[in-house]
Amino acid sequence: MNTNSLPITLSQAATKILKEVELLYKSEVWWQETPGLEGDMCALRNTPMPTVRYKNTFVLNEGGIVHELLHLKLRRLGYPNVQKADPQENNNWRDQTVAMLNNLFEHALIFPELERLGYFPFEAEENGTRAQLTRISSSDFPSPDSNPSLTSLSALLYARAYLDCRSQAVRALCESIFSQPSFASSKFLGQKVIEAVHNDANNDVSQFRSGLNECVRILNEQAFIQLEATNGA
Ligand SMILES: [Zn+2]
Repeated sequence: MNTNSLPITLSQAATKILKEVELLYKSEVWWQETPGLEGDMCALRNTPMPTVRYKNTFVLNEGGIVHELLHLKLRRLGYPNVQKADPQENNNWRDQTVAMLNNLFEHALIFPELERLGYFPFEAEENGTRAQLTRISSSDFPSPDSNPSLTSLSALLYARAYLDCRSQAVRALCESIFSQPSFASSKFLGQKVIEAVHNDANNDVSQFRSGLNECVRILNEQAFIQLEATNGA
């Protein structure tokens, strides 16, 4: 265990999960303070060393740490992710689309486990979702039907408000934005993504993979994302 640098003492339950992940990877988990990080915390994908990045020590809490450890665990167990078809492509909308789709599928397995362990994973997601909804609905943001990448990103944001949030206020905000005509195709695609996550994001790896593939098909007007194997596959 490599947690001495963290200003937090993990409970027995959290330590057990950390040890499980370290056993799966045959490596300690590395914790990297990364001030420029977009969100508060993230688990790196497809790196030889299991690595969790966090923005600063103030954002650290046990529920968040276990959340990231469970992401690492799923990938090591072979649950696939999507990635950009061109990994070198510099496109922030695409990066967000990929991250959000991977999260929606992995969270369908991770959140029930976090709740079972006594954590409440929704609040951080609700804050992030509210911020994204506010951004895409501001008047200086391009209309989602003006660009297929933005249509996909908005569709996933719609799905996120339902799949990763419990707050009625977030859903009401979401519905008020997506009832506008320029958001109609995003809403339509978002509902299909919700359906795919409900049907396929479960413990069966091959069903998880086909559900993710189905979402790639739903969103991919220009073949800009594709399925990727993870460390464990
Ligand atoms: Zn997550």
